[in-house]
Amino acid sequence: SPGLYIVATPIGNLGDITLRAVETLRGVAAVACEDTRVTGKLLQHLDIRQRLIRHDDHADDHAREGLLALMAEQPVALVSDAGTPLISDPGYRLVRAARERGIAVTSLPGPCAAVMGMTLAGLPTDRFLFAGFLPPKAKARADTLAELAAVPATLIFYETGPRLLDTLAAVAEVLPGREVAVARELTKLYEECRSGPPAELIAHYAAHPPKGEIVLMVGPPVAQVATMDDAEAMLRAELTHAKA
Ligand code: SAM
Repeated sequence: SPGLYIVATPIGNLGDITLRAVETLRGVAAVACEDTRVTGKLLQHLDIRQRLIRHDDHADDHAREGLLALMAEQPVALVSDAGTPLISDPGYRLVRAARERGIAVTSLPGPCAAVMGMTLAGLPTDRFLFAGFLPPKAKARADTLAELAAVPATLIFYETGPRLLDTLAAVAEVLPGREVAVARELTKLYEECRSGPPAELIAHYAAHPPKGEIVLMVGPPVAQVATMDDAEAMLRAELTHAKA
């Protein structure tokens, strides 16, 4: 039936496509995607011929309206280059516009690097905060980390190989005493997950420059928040500080 079908795709291992994703990608009238070459390859691997429409959050209103008109009449899938659309990927504006117009929106769950990283790291999973990509510039990156310092949850970031060492150094400085975990090349041949104090990981990755895609996780501020009372006191101090 007509509507928007958000479809998660593999983050490395093509075997991770779901049965429902294959069925849906085959059955829709068109597939909206970030990069037609990337999605074209995936569909070719699945032996699916489809009409591909490039779309992202920067698309102008006219282009978005065309897509919305189509999904009001027919089923349209939305995919990103890898993983779950909208998670550090385009799609938010399209979903918002579709909902506003009363178009049916559904999502087919599947791979997501942040969630997979959380399952591997051995860090607390009861509360986590996904913070996407840190800003590339040193000052803005440190400011963002400082802003998150008091959050009593595991922090999750997306990273790339060339920036990992700088980011680990910033974490060591701005969030001292926290355990970190690096999950790399998930679902691929050289998948790995290393955890420990930042200094240990800095030493390792200085000797073995990290390639590929990375999820960086930072454990919650355990040492600082020993008890619930401490946590409340910290929160109250934060609030007073914010009001002042
Ligand atoms: N929508 C995707 C998802 O659901 O995970 C994320 C897209 S975002 C543009 C790309 C970033 O996700 C990479 O820089 C990396 O931080 C992370 N990522 C994607 N695939 C990964 C993988 N196989 N291993 C580790 N991290 C990955």
